[in-house]
Amino acid sequence: MKKWLIIGGGIQGCTMASYLRKSLYIQANDMVVIDPKPRPLENWRKFTEKLGMAYLRSPSIHHLDPSPFSLEKFAKQHRDKEFVHFYAPYDRPDLQLFNKHCEELFSQIDIEKSWVQGKVSGLTKSTKGWLVTLATGVELKAKNVVIAIGLSEQLRWPQWALEGKALGANIAHVFDEKENLKERGSVVIVGGGISAAHATIKWSEMLPGKVTLITRHPLTVHQFDSDPGWLGPKYMNKFSKIECFKERREAIKAARYPGSLPSELKTRLEKSKKQGNIDILIDEVLQVATVKEELLKLQLKSGEELVTGGVLLATGFEQKPPGMDWLQLLIKTYCLPCATCGYPIPKPSLEWEEGLYLLGALAELQLGPVARNISGARRGAERIISTF
Ligand SMILES: Cc1cc2nc3c(=O)[nH]c(=O)nc-3n(C[C@H](O)[C@H](O)[C@H](O)COP(=O)(O)OP(=O)(O)OC[C@H]3O[C@@H](n4cnc5c(N)ncnc54)[C@H](O)[C@@H]3O)c2cc1C
Repeated sequence: MKKWLIIGGGIQGCTMASYLRKSLYIQANDMVVIDPKPRPLENWRKFTEKLGMAYLRSPSIHHLDPSPFSLEKFAKQHRDKEFVHFYAPYDRPDLQLFNKHCEELFSQIDIEKSWVQGKVSGLTKSTKGWLVTLATGVELKAKNVVIAIGLSEQLRWPQWALEGKALGANIAHVFDEKENLKERGSVVIVGGGISAAHATIKWSEMLPGKVTLITRHPLTVHQFDSDPGWLGPKYMNKFSKIECFKERREAIKAARYPGSLPSELKTRLEKSKKQGNIDILIDEVLQVATVKEELLKLQLKSGEELVTGGVLLATGFEQKPPGMDWLQLLIKTYCLPCATCGYPIPKPSLEWEEGLYLLGALAELQLGPVARNISGARRGAERIISTF
């Protein structure tokens, strides 16, 4: 039996692994990280690479190592390398620097020794722990389990886009790992946040003057995706005292700034628009139809029509709780508490049932609006290990 088993090897699961190894001194062969991907952080790498994102939105102290200044120290040690940059304001790390630091961390904690490739399909209690079943039928036993799966695999497709796709229209989601948009002379990007901005900039370099960004609201600037007050007691003290989980959900919704972007990205988009490289429409797509020569005609809420070669969705993720295809049975079997929004209610220690912990999106009713971010991963991992 393993001491610890982590389900999900993304930002959340790998942060947990690093805290277990470096703060609780768990041996690599006493811990398992299960993920369908062959190596850690695969979603993170693919998403950020697809967007052509040069640097993170979060500051330098948000990384996967328990030691807060580890990334800055790593940067100093590699000062001569091309990838070493922090971007003002808030010392936001270059993506390459951040990824190299993760690789260094993974080699320090020997994550390869703990990595098991597979998809968890069931979880049941066993003597002194948990029995974890993989889709292949393989079973593993562990004393403690952390579920660290995110929303990344539930892409949000608006209804009109689903209908268009069913008719064979050239529509893709920016985070779809299986399918890329076909380049057909012009493109419409749908979305108003940081992903839409990055995608628009990337496509405008390939198709200058042929890219249109359609956003439902004017571009909204926020440096971070929620107020930094949520990182500490300023807002979290009050949040933790809210007893009604419906109210907590409302507080999380009100605190998040979905569809927002840092000021320098807005400036880049506006400059690009001035130069005639992109167009920005405040509007909404209602319907899509295919017209001759594989072009698409978009019907917009304003009554306008737009003809384009393809549509790239930067519409984010479905906000429903992830993993419910297999978690539902677990919830039913052990009567595990969930709120009306469908999300689990773990204890403040993030324990949901004896020896079963949650991290990331699934723990947000305790960790608040930053739960899904790197800072949320750190906070969550700290809470979990603090009871050992
Ligand atoms: C483009 C982009 C930029 C971002 N930039 C920042 C930033 O600058 N700063 C910041 O703090 N946050 C940022 N975020 C937000 C956040 O840090 C990421 O979304 C983060 O990757 C979420 O981590 P995760 O571990 O929850 O999800 P994932 O990275 O998707 O990892 C979850 C893993 O669980 C696996 N999994 C799912 N189901 C199962 C199962 N049944 N069995 C086994 N494994 C399973 C998945 O395959 C996946 O590998 C950004 C997000 C995006 C998309």
